[in-house]
Amino acid sequence: MTERYGAIVVGGGYFGCACGYFLAKAGVKTLLLDEKGIARGASGANFGNVQVQDASMGLSYDLTLAGFRRMQTMEQELDADIGYQPYSSLIAAEREEHLPELRKLYAEKKEAGLDIRWLEGQALRDAEPNLAPGAVVAATWFLQGRVYPFFYQYALIRRGREHGLTVREDVSVASLLLEGGACVGVVLSDGSEIRAEHVVVAAGSGTRALCATAGLDVPVYSVKAEAFATEAIAPFLNTYYSSAAFFAEAHDPEKAVTSLCIGQSHYGNILLAETTKPHTAVADDCQDRTSIEHCRNIKRKVLEFFPALEPIDILRSWVTASPYTPSNEPVFGKAPVPGLILAAGFKSAAVVSAVVGETVAQLVTRDTAPWDLSSFVGQVGRM
Ligand SMILES: Cc1cc2nc3c(=O)[nH]c(=O)nc-3n(C[C@H](O)[C@H](O)[C@H](O)COP(=O)(O)OP(=O)(O)OC[C@H]3O[C@@H](n4cnc5c(N)ncnc54)[C@H](O)[C@@H]3O)c2cc1C
Repeated sequence: MTERYGAIVVGGGYFGCACGYFLAKAGVKTLLLDEKGIARGASGANFGNVQVQDASMGLSYDLTLAGFRRMQTMEQELDADIGYQPYSSLIAAEREEHLPELRKLYAEKKEAGLDIRWLEGQALRDAEPNLAPGAVVAATWFLQGRVYPFFYQYALIRRGREHGLTVREDVSVASLLLEGGACVGVVLSDGSEIRAEHVVVAAGSGTRALCATAGLDVPVYSVKAEAFATEAIAPFLNTYYSSAAFFAEAHDPEKAVTSLCIGQSHYGNILLAETTKPHTAVADDCQDRTSIEHCRNIKRKVLEFFPALEPIDILRSWVTASPYTPSNEPVFGKAPVPGLILAAGFKSAAVVSAVVGETVAQLVTRDTAPWDLSSFVGQVGRM
């Protein structure tokens, strides 16, 4: 007998887990499928910052602010320790050429009412005393938050299961199942079909290929991203530091870029990222390996900006496919194929994950959303 669900969610990252949880909580019979497992894609490779400062303006910013407020209630919502903490962030102009963009980011957020600060000189040294003197021209500062990514996603799944969510890992979706121009389920890689009234594609860097099976051109691309964690050390960083260059250059479709993002985990490990590199520029057998080039580049960056980290040992490195869209806007909302909902390509994930999950549940149960998502899904074309 063919299996049937109210909704199938493809992907077990921040967005798939949040969609699965909120759909099940809303009473929708939901199946979540992941070809690897929960938090095994980019959502298990990231630093858990609940990022606000870097949001694009307009609808993305409104969604980010709503998401930021919602994330502060998620421990209560899930009745679980997800490691939520206030955690300040710096976005740093390391070179004069990055000042105009940073000034723009500051001015637009300030005008929107965000309590963002502009730091230079002594104020910057006070905010991050271990930053090499004179290494940074200016920075913006905002008190945002962070979660422990695995605790958060596992809690969404645990609570989702209590509401009836079914989760299957190691199951790859080969294509979307279409009938009469509508999406009516999925076809797995073993050829079996599972039917549902709604399919939610939250497949991160797998989104583009999967949606192509429904004739859709979804502009979610990905780069190879590399990161490190050091041994745990005493409190060293006050903030999550990201180079303004990261936001300007990280997803260059032509070449590899190394820019410094550095934070200290809940447990004291220094988290270091990242080199991003287009997959087309990486040999097939190196897609899932950290590169020597990255090790050298990131070491040079770290020592330039935080020289006191010189004697600290690296414990672990990892690689992930990191999704992005050229517009920096997510592909989110009802696709131009009935029955299909897309939730991928978000610039920052943790901060908007819960509101995205809630919105998807509303789209499924009430066929309406609290946001006009047309500009996000308007990016989807036909092949
Ligand atoms: C080093 C690093 C640090 C970062 N730090 C932060 C941070 O601090 N805060 C933040 O908000 N963001 C951060 N990010 C970005 C963030 O990790 C991603 O934006 C986010 O994880 C994307 O989530 P997702 O659910 O869309 O995709 P993913 O987490 O990649 O999940 C997609 C899932 O879909 C599954 N899948 C794909 N195709 C199929 C298929 N055909 N069938 C079945 N399953 C499929 C995959 O196995 C995967 O598990 C960071 C990224 C990197 C690389």
